[in-house]
Formats: sequence, structure tokens, C-alpha cells
Amino acid sequence: MAPSVPRLRFAPSPTGYLHVGGARTALFNWLYARKFGGQFLLRVEDTDKARSTEESTRAIFEGLQWLGLEWDEPVVHQGANLERHRADAQRMLANGTAYRCFCTQEELAQRRAAAEAAGAAFKYDRRCDRLDRVEVERRVAAGMPFTVRFRVPEGSTSWDDLVHGTIAFLNKDIEDFIVLRTDGTPIYNLAVVSDDIAMAITVVMRGDDHISNTPKQIQLYRALGAELPVFAHLPMIHGMDGKKLSKRHGATAVGDYQHLGILPSAMMNFLALLGWAPGNDIEVMSREQMIELFDPSGLQKRAAIFDLKKLEWMNGQHLALISPDELLQRALPALVAAGYGSAEEIMARREWVFSLLELLKVRSRTIDEIVWQAAPYFNEQIELDAEAVRKQWKDRALTEAILRGALEVLSPLTEWNLTSTEAALNQLAARLDLVEKPGKLYQPLRVALTGRAVSPGIFEVLVVLGRKRAQQRLEAALLRLRQDEPTPD
Ligand code: GLU
Repeated sequence: MAPSVPRLRFAPSPTGYLHVGGARTALFNWLYARKFGGQFLLRVEDTDKARSTEESTRAIFEGLQWLGLEWDEPVVHQGANLERHRADAQRMLANGTAYRCFCTQEELAQRRAAAEAAGAAFKYDRRCDRLDRVEVERRVAAGMPFTVRFRVPEGSTSWDDLVHGTIAFLNKDIEDFIVLRTDGTPIYNLAVVSDDIAMAITVVMRGDDHISNTPKQIQLYRALGAELPVFAHLPMIHGMDGKKLSKRHGATAVGDYQHLGILPSAMMNFLALLGWAPGNDIEVMSREQMIELFDPSGLQKRAAIFDLKKLEWMNGQHLALISPDELLQRALPALVAAGYGSAEEIMARREWVFSLLELLKVRSRTIDEIVWQAAPYFNEQIELDAEAVRKQWKDRALTEAILRGALEVLSPLTEWNLTSTEAALNQLAARLDLVEKPGKLYQPLRVALTGRAVSPGIFEVLVVLGRKRAQQRLEAALLRLRQDEPTPD
């Protein structure tokens, strides 16, 4: 049983961007902490100096912040804890759970090669554990380099995994492993255990690629006299083809989805379903609902499938859920980047932008789609889509009659709203005998007003464009129609 105030951590190695698998692990740790009133901590595992970068650390922080996975205490940098890692190795030497090993890498490599040549699996033969104390002291005094090796006890090591149930390993299959290198730097498993003890972590939740490290880590906890945390190993994430998720399947960095116009709440919801089923067929959840519903008993063993279509669908669901304020805040950088105006200019028309975004969001799955759809409303000039013109303005005489007629019925309107524009166009439909075929009336108008064959409803388009701009577009379309040669069929 986990203690009443759980402490969890996400412990990324800063050797790349924040991968969706890492983000999913962070999310489940965060959900667990939030659900049970615990703490969620962040530890950067930067002991591998050659591969760790500042840039990657920054990318990981940014990814977590974008998702809203805030951590509760200052970030722990593993590399800063070297002295404690060493001290813990010393403690194990002192209490006899570890020993000094003077075998060199070359000797070990030779023995490994000899064992393999003889068709046997290599396992360290504990020869240095058999050295007597005097000999060990002599070698240390002579300055011979040594590693610190953990003496794996007899028997077996098992734990009750929160996801997988009981997992057991036979200790005879685990060789006495090194915990400290000759240069005094810790091996991964020691650094992790030493830090998890120091950070008082009570639940270790991570990817199930770490299962094979867990028996070693449990043995280290025992050697250091520390209480064991609860372990939870989350399933791997696979692509649609059932293979481990990789770049082959498309974007795997959380930041890529941010730039593709995915909302953080949708990404979070989508990630939450990778290895967790809330039950009752529930899928779309706000952040608060996820915390409310989170239950570790719903964590699943089988690999989770990353389905991009589902992420897009999820994003559409969240677009419909968020407030106009949040939508504008999320979309603003993309609207600016699309050249629709400066942030100040766009914010100055806040109410108008709100109504436009509300109109477009129900027709979009991503913010990028919204931004693309918004072009005819922000931009002064529109480009007419050639294909739309070819199809929708095929009957040029009728198109001309429609455009001219629309200008006639719309001009005298004293009010410009959904009801008045609809009434005016109904009148035109009757005049042109198109009451039964409204598409024939609306499609040519849609192309004239937006340049495209797809848009929100025609009255909504008229209202959001405003009277002046709508009339200018109809006039420009008429002009264009007269200038253009008829398009052949
Ligand atoms: N740094 C490890 C990784 O990125 C995680 C270690 C752990 O969670 O125990 O896979």
C-alpha cells in the first residue's frame, strides 16, 4: 500500500526532446500525485555528460509546461548528487553488501569472449569478493583502480507491481553488478536509487522497459536500509502497425504536436488513454475530470497504440470544449505567424475574433486548420481557388445573375445580421427559381465571398465579413467574372 502522501517523480534523461512516451509517463505520475494529494517532482538524469544537453533539458521543461504538468519542488539534477552516490557506495562497502573489484575492463572482456567461445553465458565469477582483507588493503594502498560491485544475494527478488501484479526474478540470473566505476562515478541503478531515497519517493512509475532494472534497484534499497517504494511499469507505446513507436510513425516529440496546432488539453487527454482506461467508455476528459477519474487499477499491461487520427479527433472535441478566451490565447501566435496582423491588432478586434473562432472551431480538428480557414476573414484580399471557380461558376450567366442579384437584395438592408441576410437571399432564391436548390445559389456566393468552396454557413460568412467587405467581394467577383474567359468544361 502506498503511504498516505505519495511522492512521485518524472526522471527524464536530457538526451533529446520530450518524447510522447516520456510525456505519458510524466502525465501518469502527475495524475497519481494530484489524485491522491501527493507531490510530483522532476529529476533530470544528467549523469551521462556526453549525451546530456542543456537544450534537451530546456525542451523537456517546455514540453511539460505546455502540457500543464507543473512540478511541486525545485528540479533535482542528478549530476549534482555525485557525492551522495559515492557515499552510498561507501556505505555498502562498509556494511558488506558490496565489494571492491580490481578486475580491469580488458580482463573482463577477455573472460567474456572466452566464455562465449565456449558457448557459455558470461557472469562475473566473484573472484575479487574472495580476496582477503589484507590483500584488498594492499591493492588499495598501491593505488590500484577498482570498481564497487554489489553482491547479489541468494534467492529471488519480487515485487507487487501496480500494473503487472507480482513480478519475480531469480537472483542467480543477475550477476554482481557494478555500482561505482573506477573514476568514482555511479552506475545508473545506484544513482536512481540513491536519489529516489533522498527525494523520499514512494511510487516509482516508469516505462516497462525498466522492469529488468527493478530487481537490482530493490536489492540496493535493501542494502541501503531504505523502505521500498511501490513500483508501476507502464506499457510501451506502439504505432498503428504494432511496432514500437518511432520517428517512422511520424512526429514523436510533444513539441511537434504543439506546432501542429494540437491543444495541450487534447494532447494530455490523448496521452492519458495510452495505457489507462477510465472505464464506462469515457474518453473525452478535461484536466479536472482526468484527476477525478484517475485510478491506478485502470492502468493496462498491454502496449498502447498511438493513433494520430484519434489525436486529431480528440483535438476537435477539446476545441469545442474550451472557452473563447483560451482558444484565442492558443491561436494568437499562429494567427500572427499567418500574417493576419500583430498580436495588438488582433486583440483590438477581440469580440470579432471571438465570433470568428467560434464559427471556425466546430469545422476544425486543429488550430492550424482554424488558422487556414480564417484567411478570407482576416485578409483584405482573397485568392479565388481555381478549382472552386471552375466548379461553382461553371454556369457563368447564372453566376452573374446571382452575384448581381445578391448585391441588389443585400444593399437596401437596414440591419446586417443572420435574419436579415437570410431573408434577403431567400428573396433572391425565389426570384431565380432556386428555392428548391439553395446550394446552386450559395456555392457561387461562397466562392465570391471567401474564394473557397467550403466555409461556414453563408449568412454567418456575410455577418462576420460585415456589409462593406461582403459588398466589395461581390463586386470584385462580378468584375473578375466579366474579365475571365469562360472556362472550358
Ligand atoms: N532516466 C530514465 C529514463 O529516461 C528513467 C529512470 C526512472 O524513471 O527510474 O528512462
